[in-house]
Amino acid sequence: MEETSALTLEGSRCTVCDTVAFPASVMCSRCATPTAVALSLSTQGTLWAYTIQRFAPKSPPYVPPVGGFRPFAVGYVELPEGIKIEAIIECERFDELDGAPVSLISTSPVPRFAVGTAHPASNVGVSQ
Ligand SMILES: [Zn+2]
Repeated sequence: MEETSALTLEGSRCTVCDTVAFPASVMCSRCATPTAVALSLSTQGTLWAYTIQRFAPKSPPYVPPVGGFRPFAVGYVELPEGIKIEAIIECERFDELDGAPVSLISTSPVPRFAVGTAHPASNVGVSQ
């Protein structure tokens, strides 16, 4: 899949039972029919649950940032489509995370959201 300038997570929706999946899949994980179609997921959501990664993950595959490891938040972002996406969460302070609104800021190598609603990705249309 080629990279585009539009920041979006590509999921899928089952045309039989409406189950939304991420990453996208043709086979529905709920009703096991090969009837899912592509769906661009919302770039705004709510942090549903999280934890703080306080030690460096095993490397590889983890690549420490320039300047070395710093604790970071990882959690599940609940999207309006009714799916929870596991993601890295960027924030100023860990005590602002509970139920925080978050916005997609990166999709590669893993989804990454930042606390807040004012990010460039917010003007990406939601196709339903
Ligand atoms: Zn289904």
